[in-house]
Amino acid sequence: MTSSDTKTIASNELPATPLDPELAAKRADKIKVSMISLCGCWGCTLSFLDIDERLLALLDKITILRCSLTDVKRIPERCAIGFIEGGVANEDNIETLKHFRENCDILISVGACAIWGGVPAMRNMVELKDCLSEAYVNSPTAVVGAQPVVPFDKQIPILTTKVYPCHEVVKMDYFIPGCPPSADAIFKVFDDLINGRAVDLPTSLIEFD
Ligand code: SF4
Repeated sequence: MTSSDTKTIASNELPATPLDPELAAKRADKIKVSMISLCGCWGCTLSFLDIDERLLALLDKITILRCSLTDVKRIPERCAIGFIEGGVANEDNIETLKHFRENCDILISVGACAIWGGVPAMRNMVELKDCLSEAYVNSPTAVVGAQPVVPFDKQIPILTTKVYPCHEVVKMDYFIPGCPPSADAIFKVFDDLINGRAVDLPTSLIEFD
């Protein structure tokens, strides 16, 4: 099959991973959470894992559905919380973020990339065509004698002209700053939300000096 035979599928349209019925029943009463990295480096998701042993107590109350950690590739049912790492840099990111907004009660922008674009937003300082040219045509690492090609395929999501923070695409409810935010900051927001408290992120958890 060639790439031209393949219908483009947005990532939120990928087939749902079937859940084991027994496991699904055990999770039924837990708070549903889904997590995604848009244009990010997964560092914020790793920071979530840095919650370490407190994760065990957290997992008594929450269950994680769509997430690279669970390998569940789409949101199988409505979630209470959506954890968004990364900014919006292509059309697939837009679709995925809108899908999260439609299927999550609360959306959290986690980290600098989700909040203001982060490092990928450095490309906003130049035209997209100049950025692609620098990366693929005039790159200092280009192979001498090789024909330079800007990658193009129907399966590669189309880049947006700029990198956008998530809240410029959909409404976001909470913001956890940092690159990445500390595990303590992420835990505090989750702990407040799942225990029904107003989110109160103390300055001591978001100071970086
Ligand atoms: Fe990675 Fe930092 Fe962006 Fe998080 S905020 S995705 S750690 S670059």
